[in-house]
Amino acid sequence: MKIVDLAFIKTIYTKRKENTHKGNYGHALLIAGSSNKMGAALIASKACLRSGVGLLTVSIPKDEKLALLTFLPEAMIHFREAITDFSVYNVVGIGPGLEQNESAQKEVYASLLKAKALVMDADALNILAINQDWFSQLPVNTILTPHPKEFDRLFGIHHSEEERRNTAAEKAKQYNCVLVLKGHQTFITNGTDSFENTTGNSGLAKGGSGDALTGIIVSFLAQNYSPIQATILGVYLHGLAADITLNSQSNESMLITDVIENIGLAFKKIQ
Ligand code: AMP
Ligand code: MG
Repeated sequence: MKIVDLAFIKTIYTKRKENTHKGNYGHALLIAGSSNKMGAALIASKACLRSGVGLLTVSIPKDEKLALLTFLPEAMIHFREAITDFSVYNVVGIGPGLEQNESAQKEVYASLLKAKALVMDADALNILAINQDWFSQLPVNTILTPHPKEFDRLFGIHHSEEERRNTAAEKAKQYNCVLVLKGHQTFITNGTDSFENTTGNSGLAKGGSGDALTGIIVSFLAQNYSPIQATILGVYLHGLAADITLNSQSNESMLITDVIENIGLAFKKIQ
């Protein structure tokens, strides 16, 4: 297992070149949020944009348009109720705040069939857990980001982190995907190589933290990092931004929106 520290991250991260335009940095689609959980969509979207994606479209229920426009004018909007043209996007992220109703299930299935690269989190994972036959349809370049409870819903009850890590490596190999087992010292595996992250703190042990991580990983995947590189870089940067936030907040007071505002300082540390 490799330890993900600053020296290792410097071998993965490539600095943005000056003579470039938004088309060089991908166009991501985030399918996130529902009437009771729009915050998750806003958090994931802001973290995605703060991580350098060229263009971001967010698929949300029509009635929630004003929330997104007000919070994040940089994002484009796709109404969830309309047909999605997946060919426009080089990466799709799905799950934060999605809920698990029939229409959410349809969104997840359509993403499995049509996304060029896919990050699945939160309710998208819970939907996958109750449709186990969909595992065989995961597109290439899929990243799954469960926390331990979601992991056990996907793969059965485990009694220790070590057991979960073993299963994660086995399943990543079987389904040819990247699996992220979130928590303190997040574990990342593609079945061949495994990694343990060194950044992050208990200030992240709050609702919304994982939604930001999804946005960050989607952004790196859209910018053409490989799935395993995008994941390692995303997990490290997310934790590093939280560590920097300890300069101005405590582990108790830290909000994920504070962490997102420190993504820029985190980038400066890895450059
Ligand atoms: P979620 O449960 O989906 O909101 O995801 C939580 C996020 O916060 C993951 O990225 C975890 O790795 C991170 N996190 C939660 N608690 C801790 C902790 N005690 N130390 C470091 N990272 C944490
Ligand atoms: Mg989560």
